[in-house]
Amino acid sequence: MRKPIVAGNWKMNGSRSLVKEFSTLMDGVDSAAVEVIICPPACYLGDFAGADFALGGQTVSELDNGAHTGDISAQMLIELGCNYVIVGHSERRDDHGESSELVAAKALKAISSGLTPIICIGESLQTREAGKLESFLAAQLDALTTLMTAEQLSKAVIAYEPIWAIGTGVTATPEQAQEVHAFIRGHLASFSEDLASGMQILYGGSVKASNAKELFAQPDIDGGLIGGASLKVEEFRQVCQAA
Ligand code: 13P
Repeated sequence: MRKPIVAGNWKMNGSRSLVKEFSTLMDGVDSAAVEVIICPPACYLGDFAGADFALGGQTVSELDNGAHTGDISAQMLIELGCNYVIVGHSERRDDHGESSELVAAKALKAISSGLTPIICIGESLQTREAGKLESFLAAQLDALTTLMTAEQLSKAVIAYEPIWAIGTGVTATPEQAQEVHAFIRGHLASFSEDLASGMQILYGGSVKASNAKELFAQPDIDGGLIGGASLKVEEFRQVCQAA
């Protein structure tokens, strides 16, 4: 039985006053039925101390510590109350040139430190239209299975975020998303059946209160990674309730 997860990725948004608004987030949300996570900018993590939902970072260094200006370590995230960290978001891959091999190294550092990485994969519209969707996603997944054992990777969560659906208002249809999630699970099964059946695979890309229920109802969709709609407490609560 895979527990649904709804994670809010605030990206480079939010403020201390928005953190305060989120103190009521879990009113009417059954935490036994859904794991709710907020991933704010790292500077606000401390302001969430005592929250009744889980916290995650938005990236983590693949290294332990040292002279790496601007980076944040897994241990630092843990000290700030995180149980999760997003790795390999397409915005980090694009803005900071993160390769799939680096993303795998970050995920492994998170796992070996006791954090659950939410590993993002997803294709551009150009890749999809060129008919290369499956080979592209397979390569992103293979970078993970090359570096990690099935047991290690079983401690991660995967988020499928088609780049063309991020922040565009264009959501993958539930059928489109389900088809890709089934492919991801099938590809993982070629590595390990147990890994595949236990893996929580989240969908991300223009998820909002009005479309969450249909997406989350798909058999291979185990919740969502939410950008814009995670910045409004009422709407994000409704997304959590849809899981
Ligand atoms: P939006 O929900 O704003 O499309 O963003 C999705 C996303 O990138 C979450 O990580």
